[in-house]
Amino acid sequence: MPPEFGATPWGRSWTRTVETTAASGPNPLLPKARSLARNHCATLTTEVGVVTAKVVASSDQFSVRIELPPWSEETKKDAERLIAKSLAVNPGLAVGDLPDGLEADFTAAGIAFTVPVGEQVATCDCRTRKRPCAHILATLYALSMRVDERPRLAVELRMDSAAAAECADPDWIPLTDLDPGTFYG
Ligand SMILES: [Zn+2]
Repeated sequence: MPPEFGATPWGRSWTRTVETTAASGPNPLLPKARSLARNHCATLTTEVGVVTAKVVASSDQFSVRIELPPWSEETKKDAERLIAKSLAVNPGLAVGDLPDGLEADFTAAGIAFTVPVGEQVATCDCRTRKRPCAHILATLYALSMRVDERPRLAVELRMDSAAAAECADPDWIPLTDLDPGTFYG
């Protein structure tokens, strides 16, 4: 059975970000965060540069926002080049998937698609002093699950052109190109 979190190198990289052990030992909030993510208590909305989530915990709802700065133009170009190269030698992937080997290519090229927890600008409207709180950590676990399901999200969070590239499917026709008269006639 694949692991619950981090079944792909893409999701695993995010899980590792959350689980990086501090000098003081493992973060005691992690089991709670995992449980929240596992039970779908974190509802995510993702866009380029930011992940927001509604996290339901202890019959209360919290709003989490995590900023993931978009890649620089240079990093974006490097990433696009590596993606194109990798997709060329790995044809027939499902929509939203990326080759596992590409994650290693990124690492080798020094391209980080995750942001270390300590460098994240993350907010939550709960009253806990400790940051990151369990809600922010649950959001990150939920993100790792999302990325496992759809690796391309890992890249789309950091640059705006990846979504467009996915439409390069020859069978894909923009709806506006269809003439309703002849299509339904
Ligand atoms: Zn919180």
